[in-house]
Amino acid sequence: MNSSPFETVDCVVIGAGVVGLAVARALALAGREVIVVEAADAIGTETSSRNSEVIHAGIYYPKGSLMARSCVAGRRMLYAYCKDHGVPHLNCGKLIVATNAAESEKLAEIKGRAEANGVEGMRFLSAAEAIAMEPNLQCTAALFSPSTGIVDSHSYMLALQGDAEAHGAMFAFNSPVKSGRVVEGGIEIEVGGTEPMNLRCRLLINSAGLHAPTLAKKIVGMPSGHIPTAYYAKGNYFTLTGRSPFSRLIYPVPVPGGLGVHITVDMGGQAKFGPDVEWIDGIEYTVDPHRADKFYAAVRKYWPGIKDGSLQPGYAGIRPKIVPQGAPAQDFTITGPADHGVPGLINLFGIESPGLTASLALAEQVRDLAGSA
Ligand SMILES: Cc1cc2nc3c(=O)[nH]c(=O)nc-3n(C[C@H](O)[C@H](O)[C@H](O)COP(=O)(O)OP(=O)(O)OC[C@H]3O[C@@H](n4cnc5c(N)ncnc54)[C@H](O)[C@@H]3O)c2cc1C
Repeated sequence: MNSSPFETVDCVVIGAGVVGLAVARALALAGREVIVVEAADAIGTETSSRNSEVIHAGIYYPKGSLMARSCVAGRRMLYAYCKDHGVPHLNCGKLIVATNAAESEKLAEIKGRAEANGVEGMRFLSAAEAIAMEPNLQCTAALFSPSTGIVDSHSYMLALQGDAEAHGAMFAFNSPVKSGRVVEGGIEIEVGGTEPMNLRCRLLINSAGLHAPTLAKKIVGMPSGHIPTAYYAKGNYFTLTGRSPFSRLIYPVPVPGGLGVHITVDMGGQAKFGPDVEWIDGIEYTVDPHRADKFYAAVRKYWPGIKDGSLQPGYAGIRPKIVPQGAPAQDFTITGPADHGVPGLINLFGIESPGLTASLALAEQVRDLAGSA
């Protein structure tokens, strides 16, 4: 620990990504004293600003999983929140497109899973119906998801921060948490950065995204058997020069590890392709322009009109995986005292997609868990 005296606070949230912000807001609204400590100099500089900004319907996740439940509930809450807070968003809908007979068969399985998760309005489309909706499309059949949409994620995060602050939450930027220690009645943490400080809190929320497992390991007293190993699956995006050929989001039938190279549009009208899946050993965000070669082939299956040379390297995000490549997908993992035995500590591990969509629902879950933590 550094030599600063301990300041005592009720709750500390580590990480001002979209999930940490939503959690801080929920705790502040519940009347708790909250300080958010963030290593970067601003909100949402990691995964929360490196994603597709899609409001997911909740289609693909196993029935009853936290991903399925929090996506469906979070999506409904997110649309309402965006409306109430003037956050730019668009309920544009999405088509999942099959380009051969085997993929067409998979659509029924996807529809069944979506309906089991409570997703509303899923509808099969013939190739002709899909092409009538999106004339640039080529497919053998499609599935229409009317509740999918897009959101300006930065405006959303600003609204969450504003709400949290309006209810008394405080933010400390440039404040990386270096270590922690479980003590009688709470947890002590050492915060580095430009203005180092020591905090003692009753409740600690580890919402550090890609770094959550590493951070948990630095908390003395947190049993290591309850800390997953961090793995990283990068997703590269390429942007399209010129106008978007589609007005809805277009997704292929999913591939192992991700949703396939899909086309989404952001609130500024920029069309982008991706993310692909590239397992990496450490955190780095460069986009190799050569990966575009694979994108053309994948995209051409459903959009034959894509022209060679029309894709520019865009950006990359990294999925905070907690299982290695090839292992069955892992659910969102929120662990509290009942799991690891440490009073006052809640860890959020593996909050990959659909974490943006699910953020408000996850925040309620953490708030409720905190009530008994
Ligand atoms: C390629 C990709 C595409 C995606 N697309 C979508 C989508 O379309 N729709 C959707 O719903 N979801 C999507 N997601 C998922 C979504 O982006 C994430 O679930 C969400 O952003 C996670 O937010 P977070 O707050 O948990 O993490 P982050 O945004 O990573 O925030 C963690 C924060 O913790 C801070 N931090 C880390 N260590 C420390 C420390 N020691 N001390 C202090 N601060 C620390 C970091 O600086 C960071 O700001 C996608 C994810 C990826 C990777």
